[in-house]
Amino acid sequence: MPHSKTTSRLRKRQSPLSASCPSHLQKESCIKIGGILCNSLIDFPGRPALVIFMQGCDWRCPYCHNARLIPEDAEDTVDEDNVFEILRERPQAMRNLVVTGGEPTKQDGLLRFLEKAKMRDIPVKLDTNGSNPNALRQVIEKDLVAYVALDVKGPVERYARYCGTGHCGDAITESICILLENRIDYEFRTTVVPALHSPKDFESIGRMLKGGRHLFLQPFRSRHALRARLRLSREPSPEFIDVCADYARRWIPTTIRW
Ligand code: SF4
Repeated sequence: MPHSKTTSRLRKRQSPLSASCPSHLQKESCIKIGGILCNSLIDFPGRPALVIFMQGCDWRCPYCHNARLIPEDAEDTVDEDNVFEILRERPQAMRNLVVTGGEPTKQDGLLRFLEKAKMRDIPVKLDTNGSNPNALRQVIEKDLVAYVALDVKGPVERYARYCGTGHCGDAITESICILLENRIDYEFRTTVVPALHSPKDFESIGRMLKGGRHLFLQPFRSRHALRARLRLSREPSPEFIDVCADYARRWIPTTIRW
């Protein structure tokens, strides 16, 4: 996933709490970056961006294709100073940052890190699974991000089926409500998984997002799915995903992102 050329330039942490993290920040607020993509034209709408992948996720979505990023710790992580170093070397128009995961809001040091980006005038897009509405509210209230992409994995009443852990429905409902307050530019997005979704599920998803700005549907890719059962399951056909989109469009503008 991360560029080998890119990571070879980077200072890597040998352990989660390496000497590169000042002692007063250790434990409380060092962020763990499990990977980096130096140039992306598709992850931040309208902006070329550097993408960082936070290490660690609180959920276990059966179709997750980033399983390497789920454990809290990893052998090699990237020092956050390298991220700012790379961005500093770029023209201003290319100094944009996408913070994705794993799950970024799980990181104790997220706010501190985003404040550093704000001080440097770096627009940030945050990708989140919605498991931590308090953190989402804070980053919006403190004006630390320019754009949020929130995963909406399925109808809320069966959310445990999609996030792989119990007690996740209330969190996603609250996170959706925060974005529906319209204080920030945002999008909802759903990965369409034929083994887990029926087209009618997109009626429920759309209704839940009624009044929202935009829902993007993206096809499930079986190759690296977390659950072996799903690695053998079919990916959505264009016809299947079209029908799903039609159901969702009754409630919210919906686009398929192939
Ligand atoms: S797909 Fe699910 S398990 Fe994987 S990183 Fe996202 S929220 Fe976590």
